[in-house]
Amino acid sequence: MLRFDDRVAIITGAGHGLGRSHALLLAERGAKVVVNDLGGALDGTGASTGPAAEVAELITKNGGQAVASTDNVATPEGARAIVQTAVDAFGKVDIVVNNAGILRDKSLGKMSVEDFDGVLAVHVRGSFLVSHAAYPLMKAAGHGRIVNTSSPAGLFGNFGQANYSTAKMGLVGLTKTLAIEGARNGIKANAIAPIAWTRMTEALLPAEFEAKFTPERVSALVACLVHDSCEVSGEVFSVGGGRVARVFVAEGPGWKTDDLTPEAIAGNWDAIMAEQPYVLTAGDSMKAML
Ligand code: NAD
Repeated sequence: MLRFDDRVAIITGAGHGLGRSHALLLAERGAKVVVNDLGGALDGTGASTGPAAEVAELITKNGGQAVASTDNVATPEGARAIVQTAVDAFGKVDIVVNNAGILRDKSLGKMSVEDFDGVLAVHVRGSFLVSHAAYPLMKAAGHGRIVNTSSPAGLFGNFGQANYSTAKMGLVGLTKTLAIEGARNGIKANAIAPIAWTRMTEALLPAEFEAKFTPERVSALVACLVHDSCEVSGEVFSVGGGRVARVFVAEGPGWKTDDLTPEAIAGNWDAIMAEQPYVLTAGDSMKAML
């Protein structure tokens, strides 16, 4: 059984849905957990101390260890306060699960700049800020595990979610660079692209999804990724309904010529669009151009 005794985990957005489920699972398996949640509405408006406190209390009632934090992941002060809460309560940070999120869905023509900025602030800035605040502690300890929460909407695009898709693909870039930079200090970073029945999706998913797409079926992957034994880093996993799959950013073999003109490109779409054999790194992409 994968256990987390003596490990300290920060889970952001853990007052509801997926984060709540991650927090309960890690705590049940011995982790000391900072249950962070601003407690606002789905669109990020408002705040409440209730959700974080309720989950922390439930963990304590079940015999686990947890403290609540209602700080905002999207501000540098909030992110630092979340990490400080972990240090004050438990002395360190081993695990960060960046899960806090909001939605402000609108098609591009109707989306305001505030809708765009607000969504990026929580998902991208928030994940950067909390990771950034925890990183020095992980580096000094020579150990750390970070999971960022992407989305199929970011990986593949989705109508009405220009802000959310941008944010969620941004998290793939953040994850890949954190994995590269963290490697020499024992820090591993991965991203998940989940599907689960939560307040964020209950109005969007068919009713029959509720029983199959439980948050617990996502948390199992998160627990595996943040365990000491996990060797995987820099990867993105689609997860939902009991299925886990690697998602990868790949570059096809391409087509090249010394005389590249717009007409030459227009005449060679089939070769340019080919998928096999693909390369997976910036270095291999560069080699293929030489
Ligand atoms: P949810 O609304 O139940 O949970 C999100 C939590 O984040 C809420 O409790 C909210 O209060 C908290 N939060 C929002 N802004 C915050 C802030 N600034 N600081 C701290 N906490 C904040 O939704 P969920 O479905 O559990 O979503 C969790 C994550 O999973 C999100 O990042 C979401 O985008 C992502 N996701 C969910 C699904 C899905 O199918 N449910 C799919 C793809 C991605």
